[in-house]
Amino acid sequence: MSELQAAQVRVSEIQDLVDWLASFGGTTEGGVTRLLYSPEWVQAQAALKQKMDDTGFSTYFDQVGNLFGRIKGTDERNGVILTGSHIDTVIQGGKYDGAYGILASYLAVKRLVERFGKPKNTIEVVSLCEEEGSRFPLTYWGSKNIVGDYSPMTIEALKDKEGISFKQAMGEAGFPFDEYKTKKRDDIQHFIEIHIEQGSILEKSQLDVGLVSHIVGQKRLTVTLNGESNHAGTTPMTERKDALVCAANAISGLTKIAKAEYPSLRVTTGQILAKPNVPNVIAGNVNFTLDIRHHESEVLEAFCQRAIQLLHQLAKESSIVTDINLWTDISPVPLDTKLHEELNKKLAIKGLKHTTMVSGAGHDAQVFGQHLPTTMLFVPSKNGISHSPLEFTESFQLEIGVSVLMDYLYELAY
Ligand SMILES: [Zn+2]
Repeated sequence: MSELQAAQVRVSEIQDLVDWLASFGGTTEGGVTRLLYSPEWVQAQAALKQKMDDTGFSTYFDQVGNLFGRIKGTDERNGVILTGSHIDTVIQGGKYDGAYGILASYLAVKRLVERFGKPKNTIEVVSLCEEEGSRFPLTYWGSKNIVGDYSPMTIEALKDKEGISFKQAMGEAGFPFDEYKTKKRDDIQHFIEIHIEQGSILEKSQLDVGLVSHIVGQKRLTVTLNGESNHAGTTPMTERKDALVCAANAISGLTKIAKAEYPSLRVTTGQILAKPNVPNVIAGNVNFTLDIRHHESEVLEAFCQRAIQLLHQLAKESSIVTDINLWTDISPVPLDTKLHEELNKKLAIKGLKHTTMVSGAGHDAQVFGQHLPTTMLFVPSKNGISHSPLEFTESFQLEIGVSVLMDYLYELAY
C-alpha cells in the first residue's frame, strides 16, 4: 500500500467509527439523541465495550456507568493516563460532540499499541457516561464521579421530564443506586481530551488544531429592576420609572465596555422578561440575565463589579429599585500547557497549523483540570455549529486530531 493509500485508509477509519457510533440514537433529521441511561445510551456503551474487548483492551464499567478500556503499562509505579470524552448528547445533537473524543482516543491508543507495543504507563480510554445535563438537571456526572465530587445526595431527588427518578434510570441501565458510593480515583496521573471546537476560530484561520490553555470561568446573574408601570401617553418622558429602558441602557452600556476594554470577555443577555408586556404601558418590572465569561478570575471579577456598579447607577438615575442575584459562579480552569510547548516543534515538522486558545464552553477537562494535570485539544467545527444535526468536521480534520492525540499520548505514556 502506498503512503497515500494508507493515509486514506486512516481517514476513513475515524469517519466510519463516528458514523457507527451515531447510529445509536440516530434521528431522522441526521442528528443524535443519546440521553444518560436511555436504551440508546445502554446500547452505545455496550457496543463500545465490545469493540474495545475485540481490540485487546481490558474493559470495565464503574458504578455510575463510565466505561474504561485499559492497556496495562510495563511500569506500574506510575499513574494511569486517561483519555476520552462523553458519550451522552443533547436532544437532537450532532455526531461529533463527545463521541469524537472517545473514538479518537480508542483509535490513537490502538494504533500506538500496534506500532510501539505496550506503553510504559497504563493508558485507559474512557467513555464518560454524562456531561451535557440534557436528561436530569445536573452536569458532568461522569467526570465528577471519577474525581469524587458527587455523592448519593446529589441525585437523591432528581427526576427527568417524564417523572422517572435518577435512581430508577440508573438501576434500569444496570448500575444499582444502592451500591453507589462516593469514590475518588487517585491513580490517574494525567487526563487528555480531544473535542470539536464548537466555535469558528480554527475554521476561520484555516488551522488544523487548537491547543487549549484555559477553560473560561462563568458568572451568571439575574437582574430584577422594579420601576413603575404607567400610561404610555400621559406620563412625560422625564417622570418615568421605566425598567425596560434602564435594562436596555445597562445591556448596551456593558456591551460597549466589553468591546472597548475587555477584548476576550463575553457578556450575553439571553433572557429578558418585561411586565406587564403591553404595547401602551411603561414596563414597571424587568428581569434579565447576564452571562459573563473570561479565562482570568481577576478580569471576570472586575467586569462583574463594573456591571453591578453601572446597574446601580442607571437605576438610581431613574428611581428604580434593583435586585441582583449571582446564581452561577464557576472559576476559570488553567490546563496543563507543558506538552503544548514540547510538541509545538513536532506539529510544525508535520506541517500542521495550530494555535493556543481558550475554551468558551465547559468540558469534562475542566472537572479533571481542578484535580490533576489535564490537556485539551480542539479540531475545527464547520461554521462553528454544535448541539445540532448540522455539526460537522471533515474526515481529514478528524484524522489530523487522531494523529496529534497519538503524539501527546506517546509523550505521556511511552
Ligand atoms: Zn462535549
